[in-house]
Amino acid sequence: MKTALVCGAGGFIGSHLARELKHRGWWVRGADRKRPEFSPTAADDFLLGDLRDRENCVRALTLPGGGAPDAVFQLAAEMGGMGFIHRAAAEIMHDSVLINANMCHEAAARGVGRYFFSSSVCVYHDMRPGDPQLDEDGAYPAAPDNDYGWEKLYSERMAFAHARASGMKVRIARFQNCYGPEGTWRGGREKAPAALSRKVAEAPDGGEVEIWGDGSAIRNFIYVDDLVDGILHLMDSDLDFKPANIGTEEYVTVRELLATIADVAGKRIVAKPVDGPVGVASRNFSTARIRSTGWAPRFTLRDGIARTYPWVAAQVAAAAAR
Ligand code: NAD
Repeated sequence: MKTALVCGAGGFIGSHLARELKHRGWWVRGADRKRPEFSPTAADDFLLGDLRDRENCVRALTLPGGGAPDAVFQLAAEMGGMGFIHRAAAEIMHDSVLINANMCHEAAARGVGRYFFSSSVCVYHDMRPGDPQLDEDGAYPAAPDNDYGWEKLYSERMAFAHARASGMKVRIARFQNCYGPEGTWRGGREKAPAALSRKVAEAPDGGEVEIWGDGSAIRNFIYVDDLVDGILHLMDSDLDFKPANIGTEEYVTVRELLATIADVAGKRIVAKPVDGPVGVASRNFSTARIRSTGWAPRFTLRDGIARTYPWVAAQVAAAAAR
């Protein structure tokens, strides 16, 4: 049986990944500073601890039998939507880099065979609507739009440096915006699909929902099951020293995202532009590299929202009843 350490297994993508690894027959240890919020962890073993701390990284990497896991999936990070990224840059640059430096260094030192790092399309520069598609090499010359992207780019390079020095196989995915059930939906760290789902659930039929900016920013959203499948395809691949974008080809404006959510909710909703951190104007990335592994997304945005909105609406209803 193969063994995995999932760092960030108390979070959104990490908890889904732990569940899928279990489904595929792995023995899984989760590690996080918190347990999953919405359902019990699927991991066989769960280590609660601050992964900025080197000793906790060593504990997480030491399995009950004494050896290291076959694979490490490093998803622990200071993470949130555009509002959080803009107000917490120092926290992100400090805390996430400590987690990555300690985990990657200790994993290489312990002979871990394969190491996955969750990067982001925030490593790319801002784009304009209509700009030609960027492939992974387009991250250089580097000009990420925010410090979250700079931290990811630095940590990508750090992981590859350890791969060169130790022979550990490193796989890096640059995620587009991920959404799905059991993602953060309130509290300030939620991303656009969850935030807009919450606002639509709270709004009356015919009501207004606030959007940051004019809603023309172009984005791509990937359903969590597709993303997890992409991570596992990438981890099995021979893509050495080749980061891979994981997203769909379905690009929509924020207004179109809101319209999709309203349609799924069966409500007439009016977008109300307000000031807020909009982020980059546009996105357009190649997925040829991840598709070369045999991966393809299975969910359209509407399919994914049809699985996500009811979950967010149920959280809103439960919170209102408390
Ligand atoms: P999340 O916030 O739900 O999960 C991250 C987890 O890391 C949390 O459970 C948090 O408690 C944990 N963590 C943070 N600091 C820690 C520390 N010091 N010690 C131990 N645990 C700590 O976020 P997510 O959406 O599941 O994202 C997972 C990864 O994917 C992150 O690295 C994120 O940057 C990356 N990513 C996510 C998206 C997205 O759209 N969700 C997009 C691009 C990249």
